[in-house]
Amino acid sequence: MEYDTIAAISTPKGEGAIAIVRLSGDQAVQIANKLFKEKDLEKVDSHTIHYGHLIDPASNQTIEEVMISVLRAPKTFTREDVVEINCHGGIFSVNKVLELVLSQGVRLAEPGEFTKRAFLNGRIDLSQAEAVMDLIRAKTDRAMAVAMNQVEGRLSKLIQTLRQQLLEILAHIEVNIDYPEYDDVEEMTNNMLIPKAQNVLVEIQKLLETSKQGKILREGLATVIIGRPNVGKSSLLNTLVQESKAIVTDIPGTTRDVIEEYVNVRGVPLRLIDTAGIRETKDVVEAIGVERSKKVLGLADLVLFVLNYNEPLTEEDRVLYEQMENKDIIVIINKTDLEQRLDIEDVKQLVKNSTIVSTSLKEEKGVDELEAAIANLYFKGQIEAQDLTYLSNARHIGLLKQSEQTIKDAISAIEMQMPVDLVQIDLTRTWELLGEIVGDSVQESLIDQLFSQFCLGK
Ligand code: GDP
Ligand code: ZN
Repeated sequence: MEYDTIAAISTPKGEGAIAIVRLSGDQAVQIANKLFKEKDLEKVDSHTIHYGHLIDPASNQTIEEVMISVLRAPKTFTREDVVEINCHGGIFSVNKVLELVLSQGVRLAEPGEFTKRAFLNGRIDLSQAEAVMDLIRAKTDRAMAVAMNQVEGRLSKLIQTLRQQLLEILAHIEVNIDYPEYDDVEEMTNNMLIPKAQNVLVEIQKLLETSKQGKILREGLATVIIGRPNVGKSSLLNTLVQESKAIVTDIPGTTRDVIEEYVNVRGVPLRLIDTAGIRETKDVVEAIGVERSKKVLGLADLVLFVLNYNEPLTEEDRVLYEQMENKDIIVIINKTDLEQRLDIEDVKQLVKNSTIVSTSLKEEKGVDELEAAIANLYFKGQIEAQDLTYLSNARHIGLLKQSEQTIKDAISAIEMQMPVDLVQIDLTRTWELLGEIVGDSVQESLIDQLFSQFCLGK
């Protein structure tokens, strides 16, 4: 296929040491060559890098000191000719280089267009393309590993295996239709089909089970810190933020009416909701209205419920707790450096099976235990992202849920000895739905919609 030549800055915004302007398309090398002083880039070997200067052909002025990589198709990310111009990291110099390239008739890439070309040129399938997007947005190392697995195509491989199995089942049915005179073929067919179809169902369900963790890894675990005034909520927030390795606060395209902060607790990305209320009130009495806490709790996956070791349980604690039902709760008994006035048995009775951790945030005690409790709740201390193909994409989950239903329909149709063409319809539909995950049967509009979500330059 042929597309015009596109370019974009492909390194993140900000003051990195170097920045890269990437070109892709038939004209990429020719255009870069027009701007490069020292060498004839059209004559160099593919996959080599060259030091020199960029000049503006209009004024003959030197614009930038650069390193240029020449990468000829097809062994490139887009499967097209690619040129990467490495220049100094400042926004000013990288913009100058981009402008210069665009002045030569190269088009500015749309968000996600490089990845879109990789897809359209058959370099990656759709689930891999989406994984690239997740990779860009990955919030923690563990989320990164999940995205990496998808890029490497684990999910695609699994889906393709399932589709292959469905094709085999469909082939058996064809045999049945082609030779209806053999009664025993039908019987044999049923006996063989049901376990095969059930195997597909089981695999789909296994994948769906991983989706909860996948979503958490991708979006962060919605977490609320709650408790009466003065128990140590702000202190807890500050501790978590300080301990955290990576805090990424920008999610493109989300507007929410609550303030969020990301922290990384042993690979579990927590998205702390409504932290403004906790941060801002220093001396003022924090009155968390019941309505407000209800609303915030409604958004939460995880509640960190803070109690004071130095005070008995109050009616307010009980009211707060009642609002948290059905949430994962970790109870934090804070201020253990002070005199005990809290009856632990009271607490246990109130919070039933929830994990209880004791801390003295003032003396920085119990923080490790708290972090372990959070990680444990979600990974049970055993699951390593590398070993699992987490399903983390809302579109994938939706399609898998549909295919779970259609394969179930197929199985009951076989069991009830329904006409084979009905079974065929359900099996074919399952095959199609799975195909949509890897992009085999998507319509053009869906493709455009997906790729427009990407960051610029990818
Ligand atoms: P919030 O109102 O729930 O946000 O509570 P803060 O985090 O603002 O803490 C209230 C007060 O308790 C502050 O003076 C903190 O320094 C203090 N504090 C927090 N954690 C501890 C602790 O573990 N021990 C002691 N003794 N004081 C603490
Ligand atoms: Zn506070």
